[in-house]
Amino acid sequence: MTYHSVKTSPPNHHASDALLLSYAAGALPSGVALAVAAHTTLCADCAHRAAVAEDIGGSLLDRAEPAALCPDALARTFGRIEAPEATPPPRMHDVPPHLAGLPGPLRAAVNALPDTRWRLLAPGIRQIDLNPGARGGGSSRLFRISPGTTLPHHGHAGIELTLILQGSFTDEVGRFQVGDLAELEDDVVHQPIVDSAEDCICLIATEAPLRFSSLLGRLMQPLFGL
Ligand SMILES: [Zn+2]
Repeated sequence: MTYHSVKTSPPNHHASDALLLSYAAGALPSGVALAVAAHTTLCADCAHRAAVAEDIGGSLLDRAEPAALCPDALARTFGRIEAPEATPPPRMHDVPPHLAGLPGPLRAAVNALPDTRWRLLAPGIRQIDLNPGARGGGSSRLFRISPGTTLPHHGHAGIELTLILQGSFTDEVGRFQVGDLAELEDDVVHQPIVDSAEDCICLIATEAPLRFSSLLGRLMQPLFGL
């Protein structure tokens, strides 16, 4: 199965202003920021709004009162630069052919993984964990979901972003196609169903663990660290 992004029309679902401001300020968890970065490579509108948000953040910084540094700040900074790396850098390799069409920021994340095979999560649902070391504090995963498959009914303890890379799904909020970014706040409970003829491939990033409302979802949660 090869990933191929079929670009049909500009995205219909976008990042909110609040999300883009947090993104520009560097205040988003890494997985959520990755989803926004990947969406801006597919969406000229959000790329422009993110640039405006960065300008706003920059001009606010320019106007901020300078804060006094502690006397040894410079020495401590140089000490950190010279300190040896605590962990070796991740193994780099070529992006496998089945993921070669991903947007740039996602290709970089996949490049850093030691294992890029799809793992079966549940019938019809496969995943690649982009941040396999993290547990309990949010996540970013690529999902590959078969046509007609319904995801478990769930809510969120924080933001959940879904970026569609292939295929489409429909949930209580609407229909989401290639390039669309679904941004769900913590008060939304939804149950997406894949309605495309091909597998739906999407990036799902959460700020905090999902809250499943079905027994199946709650049983899956501890097994897969969702
Ligand atoms: Zn957009």
